[in-house]
Amino acid sequence: MKICVVGTGYVGLVAGAGFASTGNEVVCCDVDETKIVALRSGRIPIFEPGLAELVEDNVRHGRLVFSSDVRACIPGSRVVILAVGTPMSADGRADLGAVLDVVQTIGEVITEYTIVVLKSTVPVGTNERVTRAILKLTTVPFSVVSNPEFLKEGDAVSDFMKPDRVILGTGDDRAFEVMRKLYLPFQRRSERILRMDPRSAELTKYVSNAYLATRISFINEVAVLCEHLGCDVTMVRHGAGADSRIGTHFFYPGVGYGGSCFPKDVKALMATADDSGFPLEIISAVDRVNTRQKQIPYAKLRRALGENLSDRTIGVWGLAFKPRTDDIREAPAQSLLRSLLEDGATVRVHDPAAMDNVRREYGEGLVYCSDAYEAARGASALCVMTEWQEYRTPDPDRLADLLRPPRVIVDGRNLYRDSGLEERGLTVLGIGYSLFPAGADSRMPGGSGA
Ligand code: NAD
Repeated sequence: MKICVVGTGYVGLVAGAGFASTGNEVVCCDVDETKIVALRSGRIPIFEPGLAELVEDNVRHGRLVFSSDVRACIPGSRVVILAVGTPMSADGRADLGAVLDVVQTIGEVITEYTIVVLKSTVPVGTNERVTRAILKLTTVPFSVVSNPEFLKEGDAVSDFMKPDRVILGTGDDRAFEVMRKLYLPFQRRSERILRMDPRSAELTKYVSNAYLATRISFINEVAVLCEHLGCDVTMVRHGAGADSRIGTHFFYPGVGYGGSCFPKDVKALMATADDSGFPLEIISAVDRVNTRQKQIPYAKLRRALGENLSDRTIGVWGLAFKPRTDDIREAPAQSLLRSLLEDGATVRVHDPAAMDNVRREYGEGLVYCSDAYEAARGASALCVMTEWQEYRTPDPDRLADLLRPPRVIVDGRNLYRDSGLEERGLTVLGIGYSLFPAGADSRMPGGSGA
């Protein structure tokens, strides 16, 4: 089947290569010419494990091509998949500008029955809005299917190839059957397709992300409470998570959630709910807790080093919003970097994959270190913001030599409990356990442990 994927980012490129791998003829198009030029010359513009091999294989077999001419790619494709960005606009709502641009083009150029697939994350009611917009432009038959994507960056290829579920929101049997066939090769032992009405499909995506964000904010808030009460969040999460209704999965305290999805999708869901006249209490709190949690590493640094950081050097390990991706959108590290730069601190940074993206954003304001240990050189403190594998077991002697007194490690991901770092004279400040007895000053976010 001929498929056109519009928007060749994390979702579009993975979906395009994934559908090509099952024998479809796929063109991935994008308005970003640089991206398309890179892809055409065999370079993958994003870091995603397994993606380069998948793309290369399908290009070699002639099943996957790239184009920056969106208008030319749409006619003749049975399925047009929208995977363009839906970033947060100033008022928290999802910005549908790119989606509506592409929809306009679709309405202008289709010449035969076309299935328009909304894979971008879009608010409830978008399917109807898109349908109305196309109807104004053409008499050619078409159908709009809501098919939100659930892949995770860092595991995107395997999530796409082995989905937990495929949501197809459509009332049109013909379109449903085409989409079902397209996804059949990705079903494991049992069918993973859930058919529903488009509005429910649209909401399902937001509810999934909002629930995951809720678990994170919940355990993060518990972690801060643990510091106030002199408890240990690791014990508490294991104890509570032993109940199979709760579980320990996705229940780790840290420095807040980030990325291109949770923050904007939580905000967009809040806006949708507000517009419907039913504001969401829990989700609003999730968002507030996350904003506070992102400030904790900075608060801990100031408590450990004093309020004036202008003459300090601080090392930061981990700039991506999570391991195995180069995506820095809304990464907790960004909140920290901004605060440190505002204070005039010298900031030495390292990340295994995200350095180019950070450099594009921060220019020469930071000291970029190609080796992780170099980021610790001469620093009074090292903050670990992303749990990349290579940060898990650092050499205590090397760190002790490179850091300057007071040699503080802000362990934003609780990697270094019982790691031997403290025996070498380093002070490790984790999240959610207290070094000091209960009752110490607990007014700052981050509580008594910092
Ligand atoms: P991205 O920013 O990586 O990619 C979007 C691409 O769309 C960019 O390459 C951009 O140049 C292109 N684009 C923008 N306007 C265009 C236009 N008018 N015509 C053609 N191309 C255009 O975004 P992403 O992370 O792949 O996310 C895409 C959508 O999928 C979003 O709605 C997002 O919420 C959703 N989503 C993302 C993830 C994820 O993990 N990244 C997971 C599930 C769902």
